[in-house]
Amino acid sequence: VKSEEKPAADVTTTTAPVDEGKDYVRANATFVTLARNVDIWSLVKSIRHVEDRFNRKYHYDWVFLNDDDFDDNFKEVTSSLISGNVKFGKIPKEHWGYPDWIDQEKAAEVREQMRQKQVIYGDSVSYRHMCRFESGFFFQHELMKDYKYYWRVEPDIILHCDIDYDVFKFMEQGGYDYGFTLSLYEYIETIPTLWKSVKKFIQEHPEHIAEDNLMNWISDDNGITYNKCHFWSNFEIGNLDFWRSPAYSDFFDFLDYEGGFFYERWGDAPVHSIAAALFLPKDKVHFFDDIGYWHVPFTNCPTNKEDRLRLKCSCNPFDNFIWKGYSCTPRYYDVMKMKRPSEWHEQS
Ligand code: GDP
Ligand code: MN
Repeated sequence: VKSEEKPAADVTTTTAPVDEGKDYVRANATFVTLARNVDIWSLVKSIRHVEDRFNRKYHYDWVFLNDDDFDDNFKEVTSSLISGNVKFGKIPKEHWGYPDWIDQEKAAEVREQMRQKQVIYGDSVSYRHMCRFESGFFFQHELMKDYKYYWRVEPDIILHCDIDYDVFKFMEQGGYDYGFTLSLYEYIETIPTLWKSVKKFIQEHPEHIAEDNLMNWISDDNGITYNKCHFWSNFEIGNLDFWRSPAYSDFFDFLDYEGGFFYERWGDAPVHSIAAALFLPKDKVHFFDDIGYWHVPFTNCPTNKEDRLRLKCSCNPFDNFIWKGYSCTPRYYDVMKMKRPSEWHEQS
């Protein structure tokens, strides 16, 4: 009966061959990638990195989501590379489009202004739908519903180092809800009024603000202004239940109604980051300093030589972004009262 609710064509699944001799008990977790068919050849490289450095040992599932139908080539090629079950889903129209309260003419005018000012992706409609989807809906997709933890993977990323433990179980056992590798300052042109909306939300919903939160990481003046720090959301390992919580649901609905996904170009990175910083106690956020990661144009290369050798890292430590001036991770260390690794200074 349930299968009649959705057209069968929206979802496909391929099952990985049984890994004989191994009865490893996985966490309830999946990789998740939003992509278009044309992204396939950028994506295969990401998948190889993730499989070679991590997933060949654990065989976690992988969910692919698209606003269009995935073609056979996309399904065949990704399935051939992934050692867990692979699932393909189509995003419902309500999660990829304009809500009815958005004035589309006004949105078009904004895009034209942003085009003239050469704001990155400022003139793009699809990028805005993508950011709104990643902010409010990826965790609601029917293929994601049964999972608790996820790791977001984008096309064209690199994993520089081995990952020699189960990161999902690490999240579970450590009680973490959000994990990141890189953080930096957002372009203010994309979010000029976001903080004004956040402050309105805080006033309306003080009950959602966690006591021991990371406000001091995202604000230099106790919440009067936003310092533009955000976790870079092209990499995320997180707890889906956080995005499904009343606090985040209220927050997303509020921001969605404010209209900034279309009247500005609010990214899912600042939206997720502000939520994680305000609604979670700070010990629920984890910095994966040991996951060597690259997404154009920034690198997380583990600061300590010991780690780089042990984990067979292939990155140049001087490319490590995390101690550089445009990174917000030094501030994160300060707010968390974490001791900086001894080599940080050489890499700044
Ligand atoms: P950037 O990292 O901010 O430059 O943005 P990307 O181009 O990497 O897009 C972010 C993620 O959304 C990637 O996983 C893309 O594959 C995906 N994506 C971007 N635009 C679209 C789109 O229009 N449709 C679909 N299905 N995926 C998209
Ligand atoms: Mn990207």
